[in-house]
Amino acid sequence: MIKKIDHLGIAVKSLDDAIPFYEQMLGKKCEKIEDVPEQKVRTAFISCGEVLIELLEATSDESPIAKFIEKKGEGIHHIAYLSDDLESEMKRVEEDGIRLIDKTPRGGAGDMNIAFLHPKSTKGVLTELCEPKK
Ligand code: ZN
Repeated sequence: MIKKIDHLGIAVKSLDDAIPFYEQMLGKKCEKIEDVPEQKVRTAFISCGEVLIELLEATSDESPIAKFIEKKGEGIHHIAYLSDDLESEMKRVEEDGIRLIDKTPRGGAGDMNIAFLHPKSTKGVLTELCEPKK
């Protein structure tokens, strides 16, 4: 089951610039910075009520975030929904005809297992399903 929006992923050119900006705009402190080498990104989390803002900086030109910024510039990259059973949720949406980018869950930031759904089959929004690692 999908429980709630977990976080919004925002692609930024530089965490050094973006963190102070978001801290000031939201009046909140960045809680955690984390490298996710599998995805060639460095992430920073700022919580805003129940939802986290995940700032994403590319750590390599090969990073999906570098490619995203090259095409579209900085901005909203994905919406992540928290699931209490990632694999069965992935199966459910796939059976509904939604294309999965990740066929099996993989490790993401924040001690989560994640899977992306293809924006071409989710009305143009890159969508992440996530579940805390067990
Ligand atoms: Zn995310």
